[in-house]
Amino acid sequence: MNVCIIGAGASGLVSAIAAARSGALVTVYEHKESAANKILITGNGKCNFTNFFMKADRFHSSSDNKKWIEGILERFGNADCTCFFESLGIKTRERKGGIYPYSDTAESVKSALLLELRRLQVKVIYNCGKISVSDGGIVNGTEYDRVILACGGMSAKKTGSDGSGYEILRKLGVSLTPLYPALTPLVLKEDLSGIKGVRCEASLALFDEKGNIVDDSYGELQPYESGLSGICAMDISSSACRILGRGRRAFVEADLLPIFSDDEFKREIVSRSERFPDRNLSELLNGLFPKKLINYLVHPIDTRKPGFEDLLVANVKHHRFELSDAMVSDFSRSQTVAGGVPISAVDANCGLIEHERIYVVGELLDVDGVCGGYNLHFAFATGYIAGDCG
Ligand SMILES: Cc1cc2nc3c(=O)[nH]c(=O)nc-3n(C[C@H](O)[C@H](O)[C@H](O)COP(=O)(O)OP(=O)(O)OC[C@H]3O[C@@H](n4cnc5c(N)ncnc54)[C@H](O)[C@@H]3O)c2cc1C
Repeated sequence: MNVCIIGAGASGLVSAIAAARSGALVTVYEHKESAANKILITGNGKCNFTNFFMKADRFHSSSDNKKWIEGILERFGNADCTCFFESLGIKTRERKGGIYPYSDTAESVKSALLLELRRLQVKVIYNCGKISVSDGGIVNGTEYDRVILACGGMSAKKTGSDGSGYEILRKLGVSLTPLYPALTPLVLKEDLSGIKGVRCEASLALFDEKGNIVDDSYGELQPYESGLSGICAMDISSSACRILGRGRRAFVEADLLPIFSDDEFKREIVSRSERFPDRNLSELLNGLFPKKLINYLVHPIDTRKPGFEDLLVANVKHHRFELSDAMVSDFSRSQTVAGGVPISAVDANCGLIEHERIYVVGELLDVDGVCGGYNLHFAFATGYIAGDCG
């Protein structure tokens, strides 16, 4: 069996290993001068490569059908991923469910993959130039039994995923779902310069213009001048882009003190005002939020008016922001891409249903995960399944 893989990133390298381990002769084409450039910048250089809580509901797709994703995760779950890397000499460590190499360096993951490629005598052609792929498994005029497109999307373009994979797919006649940045900061209509740099725990709910909750998240929130960053914001960004991309309005409601219910927070304020009668409202909130955030939350509230506590509860527990459609086309800060090859276009092994011998893996597929090792896992899982020729 002759297998050709386009792209030596996360999914392509694992495809190559799975194919070669199952007896195939493997050639990998990579248009950069080196492999796995994106892996090196994952997890702040520590590479959070899978998650203990690997579930289909941690992924977004244009398709509501989660069965396909469930099928992939059943065949290559978090234990399979960990075992795979252990088989390459990577000892692992866990933090809040996220699995990392024990060395805490992405470099060791890249090296482990390349050392296995060397052992399996996989041929990697770097600086390969523009690749032509046509039906029947033809790459640059040579026929292969299996061609695996593993080009990544168009996040972190300097690492090599420059969107040329989509061009290959379009030339083959594959229709793509709209492409949006995912795991990217939320851009707001409101200016948040006043609370720039603050970090707090929050939960977010994403609403469409009809008031339906479309997505939600929990985690660290980091406001910046033009919006909201941090895991909590990034996790709902692909759903937000999907709404805004259709020309609709989208809103985020932030709960900036998720440890309390509305009533509990109100009681906390009453109790604090009894314990500290000499304090003003800002001073009463001291210890619950960073100072900059207290100023921002309290500033619009007139404590002389009756019912100001309700206003405070609304401001803290149901703080509403409107999203700007400026985020829809800005891939410069995104960690992955939403949209791509619809999962209805591939079979359970990631083979294109309408294009014999051609497979699509990783970020090119219309599946994006939340933060925490889900996207690398998806790249490795689809790569492994498509590459395994056994
Ligand atoms: C800053 C950052 C941090 C991240 N952190 C994490 C994390 O901690 N955990 C996590 O799970 N995910 C993380 N991700 C996401 C994760 O890196 C990607 O989801 C994953 O790398 C996608 O794998 P892939 O194989 O589809 O694409 P890539 O890893 O991007 O690989 C694609 C490869 O194909 C090559 N290529 C592209 N086009 C062509 C072509 N036409 N011809 C030949 N070669 C081509 C590219 O040069 C590249 O080598 C992060 C992403 C970023 C940007």
